[in-house]
Order: sequence, then C-alpha cells, then structure tokens
Amino acid sequence: MALEPVMKTYNRLSVAFERGEGAWLYDTDGNKYLDALSGIAVTGLGHAHPAVTHAISEQAARLIHTSNLYSIPLQEQLAERLTRISGMDNVFFGNSGAEANEAAIKIARRYGHSKGIDLPTIIVMENSFHGRTMATLSATGNRSAQAGFEPLVAGFVRAPFNDVDAIRTIAANNPNVVAILVEPIQGESGVMIPADDYLAQLRDICDEQDWLLMLDEVQTGNGRTGTYFAYQQSGIVPDVVTTAKGLGNGMPIGACLASGNAAKVFVPGNHGSTFGGNPLASAAALAVVDTICNEGLAERAKQLGERIVNGFREQLSGAEYVKEVRGRGLMIAIELTEAGTELAVLAKVKGVLLNVTGGGKIVRMLPPLIMSDTEADLLVNTISKLIKIYSADDRAKPRV
Ligand SMILES: *Cc1c(COP(=O)(O)O)cnc(C)c1O
Repeated sequence: MALEPVMKTYNRLSVAFERGEGAWLYDTDGNKYLDALSGIAVTGLGHAHPAVTHAISEQAARLIHTSNLYSIPLQEQLAERLTRISGMDNVFFGNSGAEANEAAIKIARRYGHSKGIDLPTIIVMENSFHGRTMATLSATGNRSAQAGFEPLVAGFVRAPFNDVDAIRTIAANNPNVVAILVEPIQGESGVMIPADDYLAQLRDICDEQDWLLMLDEVQTGNGRTGTYFAYQQSGIVPDVVTTAKGLGNGMPIGACLASGNAAKVFVPGNHGSTFGGNPLASAAALAVVDTICNEGLAERAKQLGERIVNGFREQLSGAEYVKEVRGRGLMIAIELTEAGTELAVLAKVKGVLLNVTGGGKIVRMLPPLIMSDTEADLLVNTISKLIKIYSADDRAKPRV
C-alpha cells in the first residue's frame, strides 16, 4: 500500500477549511463552523483580522526576510512593546513555542554553569507540556509522548504541579537545581489551574535558592487568560517567560523574554535562529500585540470567559456526565466523568470546533478574544445540549 505523502503525526478530522472570518471557519463544501479552538490558542484575533492581514500584506510586498546578521527595526519595535508590557528586560525570537522553550532551557543551563554548577538541573512538572523537540519533550511530563524517543535529554527533575512542598523537598536535596520551568495554567493536560498563590510561592523559593523562575506562557500568553501574560495576575515578575501561539495570530513566531541576570546570559554565538523575528513575522506580531492592547482584548477575554463558564455551569448543573466546568479567561474546560473523545467529532457535526484532551475526559475550548456575546451564547447552548444528550443516552451510540 502506498504511503500517504504527509507523515502520520496527527489523527485528523475529515474536514478542510478554505476561508475564515472572525470566529468562523468555512469548509470546502461551504459549511460554516464556530471556531472555539482558534487553531489551539493561536488565532486569538480570529480569522482574517484586518490589522493582521494589512500588516502581513504590506510587509510581504516590501521585505520578508533579511537576517539576524543585520539590525531588524520591526523586531526591535516588537521587543520594545513586549518588554514594556511584561516588565522583562529583553527578548530572543524564534519560530515556535518549542524553540522559545529551548532558549529558556539554554539560558538556565548557562546560568548554572556561570555559578559553577556543572550539571545544571531544571525542575519541571508532572503533566506539563513544553513542546516536541528533544529538550522540550524531555521537559514535558507525558510518558506516552516520550516513549520510543529515549535517550531523553538529561538535566530535568520532576515535581507534581501545584505542590510547593514538593519543590521545597527538591531544594533541600538537589544542589544542582538552577531553575523551575512551569506553565501558569497547564493547557495540554486539560486547563489545570493552580492555587492563586502558587506562582508567588515559587517566586519566593527561586529568590531564596538563587534559581530562575521560568514560565511557559506559550498558550496562556497574549491576553488569553485576562491579562497580557497570566503571571500578571500573581503580582510577580519571572526571570524568563516564553510565548508563541497567539503572538502571531498564525504567523509562526516564538519569543523568550528574560529579566535581570537571566537577560545577561547570552552573548553573540550562544544562540540563534535563521528566521526568528524576521521582518514579516515581526510585522504580524506587532499588529497582534497592538490590537490586543489598544482594544482591551485581555479584559474582554476575562469577561467573555466568565460569561461562557457561568453559562456552562448553569446549563450543565446536575448533568451526571459532567464533573467540573472551569476556566480562566478564554481557557475553558468541561471535565467529564468518563472519556468522551468522540465529542470533538459530534461538535463538528453541530458546527462547533473544539478539542478533547486530558486522556479524553476534558472538553477544551480556546475561543478567539474577538468572539461576540451572541457567538459565545451559541457555543454554550450547542455544546451544553450536545453533552446532555450524550450523557443521558446510550453512550456507545450517541444520538445527535
Ligand atoms: C503548544 C505549546 C508548546 C509548544 O509550542 P509549539 O509552537 O507547538 O512548538 C509549548 N508549551 C506550551 C505550554 C504549549 O501549549
């Protein structure tokens, strides 16, 4: 049998889209879908946002790429915006979340070596997700994603998420630790929200131990959780923060921001990227960042997220199949009592795009920040009805 020309790294739903507008996608047969996934937290401004389209087409006609061997004014402007928003000192640009995290891991290792630690170790969490490159896969807390790719990269030690005592135990026993790498809210494992003071406590430990606090905001950044970065709700400033997904609204770009000593670690020759922060990607990201800030979209994400979560809690109260509805801004999860992987397909049939993660038990929604109240209510009504039918009837043969 002939192999398909694209490697089978994904199980894809049988639908292909040919255009999008705002919160809507249109397939090749002319059907429309409410996009409550945003290409996994990427298209926060929705599809075909005029500011992003304009920035990309203008810049594409002018200059797409030069090289990081030359100065790139658009990259400098983007770095200036991001440092001003975040309180960080400087930025390295790559092309993805994994690359942003690779930069963070390299900063932590070099920081360790500068302190005389020969085998620098980074604390990472159970059920975390940091990417698919060898170092970020090794940092990821998912055995099935790692299986078959051993030997993994050394230099990581794992702790349970949202468990400060476990971090203190490691601090007391492992002199090689140089940093903590953690998602402020775990995304891929199912919108896991830690205690309100978790990041502040990690900040204290890092200060006491002289470790770097490194936050993976690849998914939580760019307004999604109600502030530009999620850590801004914790009253702390990290040493390193990475972001990507929503930064380019679909134009591939990743950023690793650093502050204080972490910002002084890299010198020329230590790290690089051919494409990272090129004029086209920087122009797109500038349009995204300015739109999020000028239009108050982080605040909008907070309000809209509350509306959606409250709507689901009301409509799904007493539904036996539903364990919990939770969310922070526009990271929203409906946790089921048993696996409901086929809900993604059933929702698609009903004209709504979402995904099911966390071992099939967590229905996850990452709607665009520009979604209207009416669209949000349509989302809540459609998915609540679907889950209630699915829950009440023979689950093996759901009637939809
Ligand atoms: C998606 C994601 C990544 C990986 O980003 P890529 O762009 O796919 O490399 C890393 N960390 C978190 C928290 C993510 O959600």
